[in-house]
Amino acid sequence: MNLADKCFRAFLFDLDGTIVDTIDLIRESFRHASREVLGRQLPDEILMANVGQPLMTQMEQLGAEKAKQLYETYRRFNHSHHDELIRPYPGVGDLLGALSQRGARLAVVTSKSRDTVNMAFRSIPVEDYFDTVVSADDTDFHKPHPQPLMLAMRRLAAAPGETIYIGDSPFDIKAGQAAGVRTAAVGWGIFPPQRLKELEPDFYFEKPDEILKLCP
Ligand SMILES: [Mg+2]
Repeated sequence: MNLADKCFRAFLFDLDGTIVDTIDLIRESFRHASREVLGRQLPDEILMANVGQPLMTQMEQLGAEKAKQLYETYRRFNHSHHDELIRPYPGVGDLLGALSQRGARLAVVTSKSRDTVNMAFRSIPVEDYFDTVVSADDTDFHKPHPQPLMLAMRRLAAAPGETIYIGDSPFDIKAGQAAGVRTAAVGWGIFPPQRLKELEPDFYFEKPDEILKLCP
């Protein structure tokens, strides 16, 4: 699809690895929980394989019978190291400002719980750019299920045909495809390009400002 042919009215964004750089924070939290609860540090590829889904779901996949302990140990570490390890992505604030200036409606659709979304926005103050935020607390089903995206579109009064979902994980692309919106994978997040491209997102972006070419 030609980039300039496509101007979207609603831009939905994933949060971790897309809007805020929480890669080190997530990795260190997983390593800590793995060491403390499982007595060994699993390889990062295994620890990070399901980032983008709700935390408890990820912990169940790591060690079902110790999921609750993993979850609590991860959260404790994550909260106490949050502000020192979270970082902004260069260019993302400018992108959000430019899109909202052009009249686009913006939303965050994340599998994070609302309390950790609030922590992220306290450190990286971009919340005002967004018309709405859908967190894991808002829906019964989560990415790759389309329900969170449907809720965001309802809140923005946007139809699937005028909406794009932008994220860094395979679950984002699958959720977008299930919701009938256009999808874009970003290359600055947690997942390697190959895992994203094999899902055939409509677009793949290496840098935030490339997204502005969708709506010149
Ligand atoms: Mg993400």
